[in-house]
Amino acid sequence: MLEIFKIGFLSVTLLDVFDIIIVTFIFYWLYKIIRGTVAAQIFLGLIIVLVLSFLAQAANFKALGWLLKLISDIWVIAFIVLFQPEIRRLLVLLGRNPLARPFFKHGNKDIAEIITEAAFELSQVQHGALIVIVRSAGIKGVVETGEEINAKINKNLIRTIFFPRTPLHDGAMIIKGDLIQAVRCTLPLSSMNTYNDYPLGMRHRAGLGITEQADVISLIVSEETGSISIADNGKLMRGLSRNSLSEYLEKNLTIQHGKGIRSIFEYFRP
Ligand code: ATP
Ligand code: MG
Repeated sequence: MLEIFKIGFLSVTLLDVFDIIIVTFIFYWLYKIIRGTVAAQIFLGLIIVLVLSFLAQAANFKALGWLLKLISDIWVIAFIVLFQPEIRRLLVLLGRNPLARPFFKHGNKDIAEIITEAAFELSQVQHGALIVIVRSAGIKGVVETGEEINAKINKNLIRTIFFPRTPLHDGAMIIKGDLIQAVRCTLPLSSMNTYNDYPLGMRHRAGLGITEQADVISLIVSEETGSISIADNGKLMRGLSRNSLSEYLEKNLTIQHGKGIRSIFEYFRP
């Protein structure tokens, strides 16, 4: 391999330079993702343990070295356990394939339009609703917590399901492609109980929580205020108008050209 320069006995090749650039990039990327989260503090703690363990071994503190080595040996397991939500989220984003989206047209009428109309009508009569729209991979675990119905999507069916005092209105509805896959599903709650200093109820926390763990969009109609919110990728947008809702769904459910690998990095902008 082409040698660029030499530091003592180390010869540096072009391949090594690329290697280092890639590793630097990955570390920077990880740093940007976890910066400002609890994960960053835990990560710092683990690094301190590693450094101490190295120092103790260098100074020949046998017992202390043994203890710290033990801790750093279980580091990998601790890492996976502690960062389970972050790792999960990262894998979801990496696996997000914009070409693998389910079919979002139904006859001539757009799924986005059907959902918008249903949400808007539910909001007018102040019937609470929680709808999860699957974007790429399905969420089988969540579907199994409810009742599978696999019905063709239809505005009045959505409205009927969320009519209060009926057996199916509670919990979340899962929509995949042009099917209402399941209803009465239980979603994982987000750990946030306020959002921008605004208290979050259970419906909103559940809607937000699932977007932190899967490639889905949640739509929440508030029973208290009739307002419509969207959660996507761990972010919540409140009080959407009819137009902004339909625009958002239209834009984020269909395949967009020229929005490939770059979009993955856009999600991580600080
Ligand atoms: P709203 O503005 O409609 O009152 P909210 O965010 O204040 O919404 P709550 O008033 O606590 O929420 O709404 C409770 C409803 O949220 C429950 O009746 C249930 O249908 C739904 N819900 C609560 N937790 C979950 C969950 N983990 N998964 C799915 N749905 C849930
Ligand atoms: Mg409430």
